Amino acid sequence: APTAKAFRKESQIRVYGSDVPNPFRTFEDLASPPYNLNPTIYRNLMQSEYKTPTAIQMQSVPIMLKGRDLIACAPTGSGKTLAYLLPLLQDLKKPEKTGYRALIIAPTRELAQQIDREIQKLSAGTKLKTRVLAKSTYATKAQTPKEKQKFDILISTPMRLVYAIKEKEIDLTNIRHLILDEADKLLDLGFLDQTDEIFAACSAPSVRKSLFSATFSSTVEQLAKTVMRDPLRVVVGTKNA
Ligand code: ADP
Ligand code: MG
Repeated sequence: APTAKAFRKESQIRVYGSDVPNPFRTFEDLASPPYNLNPTIYRNLMQSEYKTPTAIQMQSVPIMLKGRDLIACAPTGSGKTLAYLLPLLQDLKKPEKTGYRALIIAPTRELAQQIDREIQKLSAGTKLKTRVLAKSTYATKAQTPKEKQKFDILISTPMRLVYAIKEKEIDLTNIRHLILDEADKLLDLGFLDQTDEIFAACSAPSVRKSLFSATFSSTVEQLAKTVMRDPLRVVVGTKNA
């Protein structure tokens, strides 16, 4: 088998940063060390229509499993959702009833729902619970503290999230994973103005952050600089902007 360096080259994976973990090569690799993917998630993955990992998945999964902050850029349609969901679900493992531990921010409600569907497929049997915060949930009855604790993953658009934070509708103090999906689109929608409130609400001492984007612009860079700790960068395909 080629070395990691040769394999990255052949798969058009570019990485920037120090101590970069090797990419994995087949989904079967994930069943054994150093990955040891949870058997339930592994089974769901094996039963899915996916046969081989995409380049962004090969390199992002090991980085996130190591707990490193990540900036990942790969074209639309290259499977970025699975790239972050595998390590996310692996880390959450099973319900803890402590409230939200993962927050995924997406630019639109449709995308949030699409991410939720992907989570349902991959997490079947783990009992992890996901809530999509969308316009329609404005109307939901006030949740009791116990009801609030039953969710593990929160997916939201930035606007709806800021509203929920202001209204003290949600508690983000146990968040350990923050994922910004379609970061370039989030920024186009004015996300920089919302970062302070959101990041302040995720107040746990170490929150792992990752950012996924189809393009790598100077605003994406600026966002990463403000909110991340020693991130690794992964770029697949042609370099944008
Ligand atoms: P992106 O976020 O990069 O635009 P998505 O995560 O939406 O891409 O994935 C695009 C499509 O590819 C989806 O239909 C998804 O189910 C599919 N997909 C993801 N990973 C794989 C894979 N390893 N093999 C085949 N199809 C995949
Ligand atoms: Mg996507």
